[in-house]
Amino acid sequence: MELAQRVQQLPPYLFARISEMIAEKRAAGVDVISLGIGDPDVPTPSYLIEVLKAAADKPANHRYPESDGLPELRQAIARWYQTRHGVTLDPNKEVVPLIGSKEGIGHLPLCLINPGDVSLITDPGYPVYEIGTMFAGGETVKLPLREEDGWLPRLDEIPADVARRAKILWLNYPNNPTGAVCDRAFFEQAVAWAKANDVVIAHDLAYADVVYDGYAPTSILEVPGAIDVTIEFNSLSKAFNMTGWRVGMAVGNATVINALTRVKTNLDSGIPQAIQEMAIAALDDPRDTMAVHNAIYERRRDRVVEVLRELGLRLDPPKASLYVWARLPEGQRSSAEFAAGLIDATGVVVTPGMSYGQAGEGYIRISLTVPDDRLEEALKRLSAYARGEKVL
Ligand SMILES: *Cc1c(COP(=O)(O)O)cnc(C)c1O
Repeated sequence: MELAQRVQQLPPYLFARISEMIAEKRAAGVDVISLGIGDPDVPTPSYLIEVLKAAADKPANHRYPESDGLPELRQAIARWYQTRHGVTLDPNKEVVPLIGSKEGIGHLPLCLINPGDVSLITDPGYPVYEIGTMFAGGETVKLPLREEDGWLPRLDEIPADVARRAKILWLNYPNNPTGAVCDRAFFEQAVAWAKANDVVIAHDLAYADVVYDGYAPTSILEVPGAIDVTIEFNSLSKAFNMTGWRVGMAVGNATVINALTRVKTNLDSGIPQAIQEMAIAALDDPRDTMAVHNAIYERRRDRVVEVLRELGLRLDPPKASLYVWARLPEGQRSSAEFAAGLIDATGVVVTPGMSYGQAGEGYIRISLTVPDDRLEEALKRLSAYARGEKVL
């Protein structure tokens, strides 16, 4: 059997060596603690689970949903954007619910990319932007992100021939993996660039509501005229600890939303309706859910920052996202080797920056979604290791 090229071209798992080390350590009886996974550890708020349970009892929710979601969910999304970002959306034309935002991010290139067309993606970046484009037969061109630029791409350095072939510019602020945020001026520049070059901006706002120190993130749709060229992805996953329920959304340009809805109609039948009812309840009555979760992450962030500095890593404490991104000590170039060394000495797993692209080399990512007691244990070990003590 010969598999299709698009499957053969999927990147090999880069960190086979780290997985092997984890397995070896576990086999040797070491209590391995992973700080690698970005998936909230705190359960979905119970008032939302109660809504879901009641919704599950209704026979109307046992049948096929519509691909474009309940009108009530699209309206709740439009109200959410109005209250949180001051952005007015037409719930019938400028909103489509997604089975997790990853689903829409993966499918968007099918709407815009012909063979040979280009998606501009950032390096480092969330891998789905590249894979979705590859599945659609397109090419990706990477825009390197650098610490000295605040992890923003240099749009004015994109060569004219690349800009001519580009159909999508992918952006993601607050950013995974760097934790960087951007101001409205950058979005204004991006919108102007996209209009000048006839490119669609796909902005991933998955971390809009995971924020610290009073930071308030911007929707790119707040920029006047952005909706002419922009689609924005958003998600209940990180905001409401709902990764397991798969609810996301795309909002923005009506032509692009319509194309994505048509693609989806041919591939899926939407979000299970009982879960849509839970999503409406979350959006319409967020209570203090997000503030409570953010306070937990903020406390963890401060502890992680303290211990990483003891280890000689350099970093800016993130204002948003679930990640601390830190630069390796001078002389340490390979993030994979650094991570392997930590597992070996302490049983603590961090993600090598290289996993998110070549420009992530020299950095590691630590996730804040680890239960407090496990995180404290991991940090205690890292602290002891920094003092030169034997840990395992
Ligand atoms: C977690 C994440 C998402 C999406 O998650 P869904 O659960 O599919 O909504 C999207 N983009 C980035 C960068 C993420 O880290």
